[in-house]
Amino acid sequence: MRLKIARKVGFCFGVRRAVEMAEEVLKTEGKAYSLGSIIHNKQVVEALSKKGLEVIKSIDEADRGVLVISSHGISPETAGEISKRSLKLVDTTCPFVRNAQSSARSLGREGYTVIIVGDANHPEVKALYDFAGKKTYVVKDAAGLKALKLKPNERIGVLSQTTQSMDNFLGVVNAIRDTKPKSLRVFNTICKDAQVRQAAARDISRRVNLMLIVGGKNSANTKRLFEVCKKTLRKSYLVETERDLRSQWFKDVSVVGITSGASTPKTIVRRVAKVLKSSAVKAEKKGRLQTVHDKRK
Ligand code: SF4
Repeated sequence: MRLKIARKVGFCFGVRRAVEMAEEVLKTEGKAYSLGSIIHNKQVVEALSKKGLEVIKSIDEADRGVLVISSHGISPETAGEISKRSLKLVDTTCPFVRNAQSSARSLGREGYTVIIVGDANHPEVKALYDFAGKKTYVVKDAAGLKALKLKPNERIGVLSQTTQSMDNFLGVVNAIRDTKPKSLRVFNTICKDAQVRQAAARDISRRVNLMLIVGGKNSANTKRLFEVCKKTLRKSYLVETERDLRSQWFKDVSVVGITSGASTPKTIVRRVAKVLKSSAVKAEKKGRLQTVHDKRK
Protein backbone atom coordinates (compact mmCIF):
# COMPACT_ATOMS: atom_id res chain seq x y z
CA MET A 1 0.00 0.00 0.00
CA ARG A 2 1.29 3.46 -0.87
CA LEU A 3 0.22 6.76 0.67
CA LYS A 4 -0.19 9.96 -1.31
CA ILE A 5 -0.36 12.87 1.09
CA ALA A 6 -1.43 16.29 -0.16
CA ARG A 7 1.34 18.84 0.08
CA LYS A 8 -0.84 21.30 1.95
CA VAL A 9 -2.03 19.65 5.15
CA GLY A 10 -2.28 21.02 8.67
CA PHE A 11 -3.39 24.50 9.68
CA CYS A 12 -3.98 27.23 7.13
CA PHE A 13 -2.56 30.69 7.76
CA GLY A 14 -5.73 32.01 9.44
CA VAL A 15 -6.17 29.06 11.79
CA ARG A 16 -2.51 28.99 12.79
CA ARG A 17 -2.68 32.71 13.52
CA ALA A 18 -5.85 32.28 15.64
CA VAL A 19 -4.41 29.41 17.68
CA GLU A 20 -1.11 31.24 18.23
CA MET A 21 -2.91 34.41 19.34
CA ALA A 22 -5.03 32.39 21.80
CA GLU A 23 -1.99 30.55 23.15
CA GLU A 24 -0.13 33.82 23.59
CA VAL A 25 -2.91 35.42 25.60
CA LEU A 26 -3.31 32.30 27.74
CA LYS A 27 0.39 32.44 28.58
CA THR A 28 0.06 35.96 29.96
CA GLU A 29 -3.51 35.89 31.35
CA GLY A 30 -3.87 32.24 32.34
CA LYS A 31 -7.57 32.25 31.41
CA ALA A 32 -9.73 33.59 28.59
CA TYR A 33 -13.14 33.07 27.00
CA SER A 34 -13.75 32.21 23.40
CA LEU A 35 -17.05 33.14 21.81
CA GLY A 36 -17.92 29.82 20.18
CA SER A 37 -15.14 27.40 19.25
CA ILE A 38 -12.03 29.30 18.23
CA ILE A 39 -11.63 26.86 15.33
CA HIS A 40 -13.71 23.87 14.23
CA ASN A 41 -11.51 21.11 15.54
CA LYS A 42 -12.50 19.27 18.70
CA GLN A 43 -8.99 18.10 19.58
CA VAL A 44 -7.49 21.61 19.35
CA VAL A 45 -10.39 23.14 21.30
CA GLU A 46 -9.90 20.52 24.05
CA ALA A 47 -6.15 21.17 24.18
CA LEU A 48 -6.75 24.94 24.48
CA SER A 49 -9.39 24.38 27.12
CA LYS A 50 -6.78 22.58 29.25
CA LYS A 51 -4.63 25.69 28.93
CA GLY A 52 -7.50 27.91 30.17
CA LEU A 53 -9.64 28.82 27.14
CA GLU A 54 -13.32 28.48 28.06
CA VAL A 55 -15.84 28.31 25.21
CA ILE A 56 -18.97 30.40 25.81
CA LYS A 57 -22.10 30.55 23.67
CA SER A 58 -23.10 34.12 24.44
CA ILE A 59 -21.23 37.23 25.59
CA ASP A 60 -23.66 37.36 28.54
CA GLU A 61 -21.50 34.59 30.03
CA ALA A 62 -18.44 36.89 30.15
CA ASP A 63 -18.69 40.24 31.89
CA ARG A 64 -14.98 40.83 32.41
CA GLY A 65 -11.68 39.24 31.50
CA VAL A 66 -10.33 38.39 28.07
CA LEU A 67 -12.56 37.43 25.15
CA VAL A 68 -11.11 35.73 22.09
CA ILE A 69 -13.01 36.09 18.81
CA SER A 70 -12.66 33.13 16.46
CA SER A 71 -11.12 33.21 12.99
CA HIS A 72 -14.69 33.18 11.58
CA GLY A 73 -15.33 36.72 12.83
CA ILE A 74 -18.35 38.37 14.46
CA SER A 75 -21.16 40.65 13.33
CA PRO A 76 -21.08 44.43 13.88
CA GLU A 77 -23.94 43.99 16.41
CA THR A 78 -21.95 41.51 18.49
CA ALA A 79 -18.90 43.79 18.31
CA GLY A 80 -21.11 46.64 19.60
CA GLU A 81 -22.37 44.50 22.50
CA ILE A 82 -18.81 43.50 23.42
CA SER A 83 -17.66 47.13 23.46
CA LYS A 84 -20.22 47.87 26.21
CA ARG A 85 -18.50 45.41 28.58
CA SER A 86 -15.22 45.46 30.46
CA LEU A 87 -13.70 42.85 28.23
CA LYS A 88 -10.23 42.81 26.76
CA LEU A 89 -10.68 41.71 23.16
CA VAL A 90 -8.37 39.42 21.22
CA ASP A 91 -9.77 39.39 17.70
CA THR A 92 -8.39 36.51 15.63
CA THR A 93 -10.73 37.07 12.65
CA CYS A 94 -8.87 35.83 9.58
CA PRO A 95 -7.86 38.71 7.25
CA PHE A 96 -9.52 36.85 4.33
CA VAL A 97 -12.78 36.68 6.28
CA ARG A 98 -12.40 40.42 6.98
CA ASN A 99 -12.07 40.98 3.26
CA ALA A 100 -15.36 39.11 2.68
CA GLN A 101 -16.97 41.20 5.45
CA SER A 102 -15.94 44.47 3.82
CA SER A 103 -17.25 43.25 0.43
CA ALA A 104 -20.59 42.39 2.08
CA ARG A 105 -20.73 45.78 3.79
CA SER A 106 -19.95 47.79 0.67
CA LEU A 107 -22.55 45.91 -1.40
CA GLY A 108 -25.17 46.50 1.29
CA ARG A 109 -24.30 50.20 1.58
CA GLU A 110 -24.55 50.65 -2.18
CA GLY A 111 -28.09 49.27 -2.12
CA TYR A 112 -27.47 45.93 -3.82
CA THR A 113 -29.51 42.85 -3.07
CA VAL A 114 -26.78 40.68 -1.59
CA ILE A 115 -26.53 36.94 -2.13
CA ILE A 116 -24.13 35.03 0.09
CA VAL A 117 -23.25 31.53 -1.08
CA GLY A 118 -22.68 29.37 1.97
CA ASP A 119 -24.07 27.59 4.97
CA ALA A 120 -26.58 29.84 6.75
CA ASN A 121 -25.79 28.30 10.14
CA HIS A 122 -22.05 28.84 9.98
CA PRO A 123 -20.73 31.65 12.23
CA GLU A 124 -18.80 33.24 9.37
CA VAL A 125 -21.93 33.42 7.20
CA LYS A 126 -24.10 34.73 10.06
CA ALA A 127 -21.63 37.59 10.52
CA LEU A 128 -21.43 38.27 6.76
CA TYR A 129 -25.21 38.44 6.66
CA ASP A 130 -25.23 41.15 9.31
CA PHE A 131 -22.49 43.07 7.53
CA ALA A 132 -24.46 43.06 4.26
CA GLY A 133 -27.66 44.50 5.72
CA LYS A 134 -31.37 44.06 5.12
CA LYS A 135 -31.67 42.94 1.49
CA THR A 136 -29.51 39.85 1.97
CA TYR A 137 -30.08 36.17 1.24
CA VAL A 138 -27.97 33.13 1.97
CA VAL A 139 -28.12 30.29 -0.55
CA LYS A 140 -26.40 26.94 -0.44
CA ASP A 141 -26.36 26.39 -4.19
CA ALA A 142 -28.00 27.26 -7.52
CA ALA A 143 -31.13 25.28 -6.58
CA GLY A 144 -31.47 27.43 -3.45
CA LEU A 145 -31.30 30.54 -5.60
CA LYS A 146 -34.31 29.46 -7.67
CA ALA A 147 -36.40 29.37 -4.50
CA LEU A 148 -35.72 33.11 -3.97
CA LYS A 149 -37.68 34.07 -7.09
CA LEU A 150 -35.51 37.11 -7.85
CA LYS A 151 -37.16 39.72 -10.05
CA PRO A 152 -35.50 40.75 -13.33
CA ASN A 153 -33.80 44.16 -13.26
CA GLU A 154 -32.52 43.85 -9.70
CA ARG A 155 -29.05 45.12 -8.78
CA ILE A 156 -27.40 42.07 -7.33
CA GLY A 157 -24.11 41.55 -5.54
CA VAL A 158 -22.82 38.07 -4.80
CA LEU A 159 -20.04 36.80 -2.57
CA SER A 160 -19.09 33.55 -0.95
CA GLN A 161 -18.30 31.96 2.37
CA THR A 162 -14.51 31.69 2.27
CA THR A 163 -14.45 27.88 2.23
CA GLN A 164 -17.00 27.22 -0.54
CA SER A 165 -16.11 25.30 -3.67
CA MET A 166 -15.52 27.40 -6.76
CA ASP A 167 -17.84 25.18 -8.85
CA ASN A 168 -20.73 25.76 -6.49
CA PHE A 169 -20.07 29.50 -6.33
CA LEU A 170 -19.92 29.81 -10.13
CA GLY A 171 -23.10 27.73 -10.38
CA VAL A 172 -24.91 30.33 -8.29
CA VAL A 173 -23.36 33.24 -10.23
CA ASN A 174 -24.57 31.73 -13.52
CA ALA A 175 -28.03 31.12 -12.08
CA ILE A 176 -28.17 34.79 -11.03
CA ARG A 177 -27.15 35.83 -14.58
CA ASP A 178 -30.09 33.80 -15.88
CA THR A 179 -32.48 36.01 -13.88
CA LYS A 180 -31.27 38.95 -16.07
CA PRO A 181 -30.35 41.35 -13.28
CA LYS A 182 -29.98 45.05 -14.02
CA SER A 183 -26.42 44.79 -12.80
CA LEU A 184 -24.37 42.07 -11.18
CA ARG A 185 -21.27 42.49 -9.01
CA VAL A 186 -19.35 39.35 -8.18
CA PHE A 187 -16.87 39.17 -5.32
CA ASN A 188 -14.91 35.95 -5.31
CA THR A 189 -14.23 35.76 -1.58
CA ILE A 190 -13.23 32.08 -1.58
CA CYS A 191 -9.94 31.78 0.24
CA LYS A 192 -6.92 30.71 -1.85
CA ASP A 193 -5.98 28.08 0.71
CA ALA A 194 -9.41 26.44 0.35
CA GLN A 195 -9.12 26.48 -3.46
CA VAL A 196 -5.64 24.91 -3.42
CA ARG A 197 -6.71 22.16 -1.01
CA GLN A 198 -9.83 21.38 -3.04
CA ALA A 199 -7.91 21.20 -6.33
CA ALA A 200 -5.27 18.92 -4.76
CA ALA A 201 -7.93 16.72 -3.17
CA ARG A 202 -9.72 16.35 -6.52
CA ASP A 203 -6.48 15.52 -8.26
CA ILE A 204 -5.25 12.98 -5.68
CA SER A 205 -8.63 11.28 -5.40
CA ARG A 206 -8.42 10.50 -9.15
CA ARG A 207 -5.13 8.64 -8.60
CA VAL A 208 -5.83 6.54 -5.51
CA ASN A 209 -8.18 3.72 -4.47
CA LEU A 210 -9.27 5.30 -1.21
CA MET A 211 -9.21 8.86 0.06
CA LEU A 212 -9.03 10.01 3.68
CA ILE A 213 -10.02 13.53 4.61
CA VAL A 214 -8.74 14.31 8.09
CA GLY A 215 -10.58 16.99 10.04
CA GLY A 216 -13.42 18.05 12.28
CA LYS A 217 -16.88 16.82 11.32
CA ASN A 218 -18.10 20.32 12.19
CA SER A 219 -15.49 22.02 10.00
CA ALA A 220 -16.94 23.63 6.84
CA ASN A 221 -13.76 23.39 4.81
CA THR A 222 -13.18 19.75 5.81
CA LYS A 223 -16.74 18.84 4.78
CA ARG A 224 -16.20 20.65 1.47
CA LEU A 225 -13.03 18.60 0.82
CA PHE A 226 -14.98 15.45 1.61
CA GLU A 227 -17.71 16.43 -0.90
CA VAL A 228 -15.08 17.20 -3.56
CA CYS A 229 -13.40 13.79 -3.07
CA LYS A 230 -16.68 11.91 -2.85
CA LYS A 231 -17.68 13.22 -6.29
CA THR A 232 -14.57 11.57 -7.78
CA LEU A 233 -14.12 8.57 -5.52
CA ARG A 234 -16.85 6.66 -3.71
CA LYS A 235 -14.34 5.32 -1.22
CA SER A 236 -13.72 8.66 0.47
CA TYR A 237 -13.93 8.91 4.25
CA LEU A 238 -13.87 11.82 6.67
CA VAL A 239 -11.97 10.93 9.84
CA GLU A 240 -11.34 13.16 12.84
CA THR A 241 -8.41 11.12 14.12
CA GLU A 242 -6.73 7.75 13.55
CA ARG A 243 -9.35 6.22 15.88
CA ASP A 244 -12.00 6.60 13.16
CA LEU A 245 -10.11 4.34 10.72
CA ARG A 246 -11.85 1.04 9.95
CA SER A 247 -9.87 -1.95 8.68
CA GLN A 248 -12.68 -3.13 6.37
CA TRP A 249 -12.28 0.04 4.26
CA PHE A 250 -8.82 -1.05 3.13
CA LYS A 251 -9.64 -4.41 1.57
CA ASP A 252 -8.13 -4.50 -1.98
CA VAL A 253 -6.78 -0.98 -1.58
CA SER A 254 -3.25 -0.37 -2.81
CA VAL A 255 -2.99 3.43 -2.86
CA VAL A 256 -4.45 5.70 -0.17
CA GLY A 257 -4.71 9.48 -0.54
CA ILE A 258 -4.71 11.77 2.48
CA THR A 259 -5.69 15.39 2.78
CA SER A 260 -6.74 17.54 5.70
CA GLY A 261 -9.00 20.44 6.52
CA ALA A 262 -7.50 23.84 7.30
CA SER A 263 -8.23 23.47 11.03
CA THR A 264 -6.58 20.06 11.41
CA PRO A 265 -3.18 20.01 13.12
CA LYS A 266 -0.41 18.27 11.17
CA THR A 267 0.20 16.00 14.17
CA ILE A 268 -3.19 14.31 13.62
CA VAL A 269 -2.47 13.78 9.90
CA ARG A 270 0.88 12.24 10.83
CA ARG A 271 -0.80 9.90 13.34
CA VAL A 272 -3.29 8.75 10.68
CA ALA A 273 -0.44 8.06 8.24
CA LYS A 274 1.54 6.26 10.94
CA VAL A 275 -1.35 3.93 11.79
CA LEU A 276 -1.86 3.13 8.10
CA LYS A 277 1.80 2.36 7.62
CA SER A 278 2.05 0.13 10.67
CA SER A 279 -1.18 -1.75 9.87
CA ALA A 280 -0.05 -2.31 6.29
CA VAL A 281 3.30 -3.58 7.47
CA LYS A 282 1.59 -5.96 9.87
CA ALA A 283 -0.83 -7.17 7.22
CA GLU A 284 1.77 -7.80 4.54
CA LYS A 285 4.89 -8.70 6.44
CA LYS A 286 7.09 -8.39 3.39
CA GLY A 287 5.22 -5.54 1.79
CA ARG A 288 7.02 -2.25 1.40
CA LEU A 289 5.11 0.90 2.13
CA GLN A 290 5.96 4.15 0.45
CA THR A 291 4.85 7.54 1.62
CA VAL A 292 4.89 10.03 -1.20
CA HIS A 293 4.35 13.74 -0.69
CA ASP A 294 2.34 14.87 -3.64
CA LYS A 295 4.39 17.63 -5.23
CA ARG A 296 2.00 18.42 -8.02
CA LYS A 297 -0.22 20.56 -5.76
S1 SF4 B 1 -9.47 28.75 5.39
FE1 SF4 B 1 -8.80 30.69 4.54
S2 SF4 B 1 -10.32 32.17 5.26
FE2 SF4 B 1 -10.51 30.37 6.55
S3 SF4 B 1 -9.18 30.79 8.29
FE3 SF4 B 1 -7.96 29.65 6.80
S4 SF4 B 1 -6.90 31.23 5.60
FE4 SF4 B 1 -8.60 32.21 6.69
